[in-house]
Amino acid sequence: MGRATFDNFPDKFLSIEFPSVAQIPIFLEIDVYDDVQSFSLTNKSNNIGFGTDVSNNEKDIREFITETGSYEIEINTQSDGVLIKDIEIEDVRTTLIFNKIDFDFELRRVDDEGNRISNTATENLAETFVSTDNIRILFFQLEHYDLQNDGNTCGDIVWEVEGVTEDDGTVTEQNNGEEDVYEFIPNPINRPNQTGNGSRQPNTPIEYTVNCTILGLKRSFELEQDGKSVLRQEYIDYGTNWQPTRSEIFADDGDWNTGNYSNNGDFNVDAANYPYDSGYIAARGQNRFQEIWDQLLINYGNFCEQAGINNNGLTVNSSYRNPQRNNAVGSVLINSNHTIGHAMDVSLVGQRTSQRWNFLHNAGEQINGVNAICEIGPTQVSCDNPNVSHVHLAW
Ligand SMILES: [Zn+2]
Repeated sequence: MGRATFDNFPDKFLSIEFPSVAQIPIFLEIDVYDDVQSFSLTNKSNNIGFGTDVSNNEKDIREFITETGSYEIEINTQSDGVLIKDIEIEDVRTTLIFNKIDFDFELRRVDDEGNRISNTATENLAETFVSTDNIRILFFQLEHYDLQNDGNTCGDIVWEVEGVTEDDGTVTEQNNGEEDVYEFIPNPINRPNQTGNGSRQPNTPIEYTVNCTILGLKRSFELEQDGKSVLRQEYIDYGTNWQPTRSEIFADDGDWNTGNYSNNGDFNVDAANYPYDSGYIAARGQNRFQEIWDQLLINYGNFCEQAGINNNGLTVNSSYRNPQRNNAVGSVLINSNHTIGHAMDVSLVGQRTSQRWNFLHNAGEQINGVNAICEIGPTQVSCDNPNVSHVHLAW
């Protein structure tokens, strides 16, 4: 009777039509591998079962006395990825041989050239994306079994991508001509923007689950923005002129992002509610906050010493402001030097005299690349103005 295969490989249901010349009874010998856990046989033509397994406890052979007709066989395996095919049907004594094929795959994120994007010690490729990125997920086969040569092409791959929340939106596949790569651009909706009231809390991360099913085996790739990505996303949401790269996001323990995300300055206090670490700042090019602050203290101290007056110290009113916080504090200057990490507002501790404001102003001006102006609120004024509120340093 030759050889039969599953039509819908690797469908676990197999239909066998015995030819009319078959005699009664038919011995159906089923040769299985150890990890074929069980199977059941159903006589489709008259609903009569196969009857008793008459095999003599041989682990991989089951033997039944059958009648003629159509039969449907269901095989259950112990693990996913074990495919069963190649059925040999002999004459009256029929042997079904199930060849085990180990098959497995994983999903990988790749760049536009198809090169794998790998995790590093500090970067997780599943977390490093923003909504303007092309995300490409590759089906990557782990076992050696050659699907192509078996007549099974990558066309058998079924991709499915879903946002984790409604606000993640619905994505569509980009036609990249590659069957084994699913490419899409995130499509989040209801994003916060300049027309809102801002917030001192980070946004929730954008999340997608990419599912890939092939030959009955399903694997998933979970994408979820990390803290750096969430901060970068703010700049996209707000449509700022400058949008930080990942290398322009810096860890910050609260010194230069004061008051953001947490009301008491302890950035970890809300970790349970906002696990997307908010201890970050963005700074175009490089993060100069600490260096400029250190130099400012030295310069200001020198002026005080030369003038023979006490150095009562300086304090930072505001420095880095992420777009959300910038809105929350009522600033309409979304592209200000504060949001690009290039400004800080500094005040005097103690006596607020014109002499001291001028010292502070000049101390800032002495620093390479820094411009200093005296301000009342957002308005530039003379440093001799008795109501100066702070010196705005920008670089
Ligand atoms: Zn300022």
